[in-house]
Amino acid sequence: MKNKIEFFGVRGDWKRFKFFCPACCSTHEFEIDNKNEHLMWNRNLEKPYLNFPIKNRSNRGADLCHCSIINGELIYHSNSTHNFAGRTIILPDWIGK
Ligand SMILES: [Zn+2]
Repeated sequence: MKNKIEFFGVRGDWKRFKFFCPACCSTHEFEIDNKNEHLMWNRNLEKPYLNFPIKNRSNRGADLCHCSIINGELIYHSNSTHNFAGRTIILPDWIGK
């Protein structure tokens, strides 16, 4: 399997990750608190499970992209303002930079 999310650095106590969102055709970023890492995700880059939703505003594709990453899938919440609202898709393999 390939990584679906990419680790790209540290900021203070936070580890930074990114993934590709097909709904927005762009990369979204999120941060994990080092001290509570075990509470926030399963530490699996290939089949990530995050215990928090991700909200992105002012993307190219949507005013609001609200999603969760569960077992390697992207679950778009219904209040997202793009065509993927309410849908669940396989999180694409990370291929970008
Ligand atoms: Zn998005």
